Amino acid sequence: MFIEEQIQNLHRRIKNIEQNPRPEYLKSNKLMYEIELEDLLHANEAWQEGKPFAWLGHITGGLTKALGFEPNIAGGNRVIDAQRFWDLLVSKFGFPEHSCDQAMMMLALPLSGEVPLPRLVVGSRVPCDPERFAPMALAKYAGALFFELSKLTSNDYEGLSFCAEQLGELVEFTEKSIPGIKYDEAKLIELLELDQQAANFIHETYELRKRVPCPLSPQDCFRIGGPRPGHSHNPTRALEYCRMYRDELFERAEKGIGGVPEEKLRIAWMATAPFGRSTFDLLSKKGVSMVWFHYGIAAHSYGVINSRFGDSLYGKKLTPLEETARASMWTTNTWGGTSEEWVNPLVDICRDLKVDAVVDFLQVGCITTKNLKRITAQRLREELNIPTLDLEGRQRFNSEAGLIEMNKKLEDFLDLCIANKK
Ligand code: SF4
Repeated sequence: MFIEEQIQNLHRRIKNIEQNPRPEYLKSNKLMYEIELEDLLHANEAWQEGKPFAWLGHITGGLTKALGFEPNIAGGNRVIDAQRFWDLLVSKFGFPEHSCDQAMMMLALPLSGEVPLPRLVVGSRVPCDPERFAPMALAKYAGALFFELSKLTSNDYEGLSFCAEQLGELVEFTEKSIPGIKYDEAKLIELLELDQQAANFIHETYELRKRVPCPLSPQDCFRIGGPRPGHSHNPTRALEYCRMYRDELFERAEKGIGGVPEEKLRIAWMATAPFGRSTFDLLSKKGVSMVWFHYGIAAHSYGVINSRFGDSLYGKKLTPLEETARASMWTTNTWGGTSEEWVNPLVDICRDLKVDAVVDFLQVGCITTKNLKRITAQRLREELNIPTLDLEGRQRFNSEAGLIEMNKKLEDFLDLCIANKK
């Protein structure tokens, strides 16, 4: 069963860090796994007790808890036997095989019966079909209440309040439709404040990526987030993780410790991560620092865009639901909008972090990023004179032959870039 497997896997990882610490990885990873474990144990207990779960998609975890729900655990980030869930989705439910495994895993897990079914599902009007239709299908099969959010093309105050108004409707609709659900605004404010402190720690680390060598290992650079107070069962511990992550990176940067043994090349990676550790190990072996992972909320998460956080950003004090919309980074998500939203921050960041080359990773089935590839590569070449590699793979599972072929293509590209840099 998924939860038991995850629990065992996390125990194994923690033990492995204790017994075989690897100097290139952050020590704070141990705390991250411990928090994940604590969250899973709590979710399992809540499931046994029949507590209601909710899946709020792009919206920050604080609102889920303020509504009295348990946060979803079906993101599938660490799913071990992805093929099992994929087979179920394709052969039993008839979903397409050549779709994005990242988006579809959130549907496969609850449909397998191995994680709790949500009582409320919130989808978003996004240009990515799998990400839009998976929550709809989940709500249909789970018999859950469904609500869909949309956004304006602007990320100014008008765009923000448009989102916040919908969140207000979501709260009202949920309270009316699910007996026992009562919105607790004080709880939301408390979690938003903790989330903001966590966000501040993470923003501070962006500057460190400019250092040569970059203190982050490729594997650590791929981590999108880690525990956050709004989502975790133990918000204080999640905040402590963010502080520890910040402090550790500063310490490594001060001492000149790099995330790869000898930095020979600096790359940025888009838009999803590859499957398995072999790619991270290849980057380390080649002396390739991955200084930036470009995905939808990355630029906002690290304070690159929309960096004047807090009340000063919109010239007024935000309501808790406006603050929720802002903290959810839904209006500043650079993915799936116009090519400028996606490419402009990438070009700025590559210039800022002295990136030598970019890997544009195409998740099988991802039409959304495929359509942006030509423009991305062209702008990186014209404005920064840096090359882009098109690489295709899957995020949650891959055949061994597919991985070997993918890593070979990547290695050839890296060798060429390193030779050109000398
Ligand atoms: S990788 Fe592509 S298809 Fe998958 S969720 Fe992201 S945008 Fe959608």
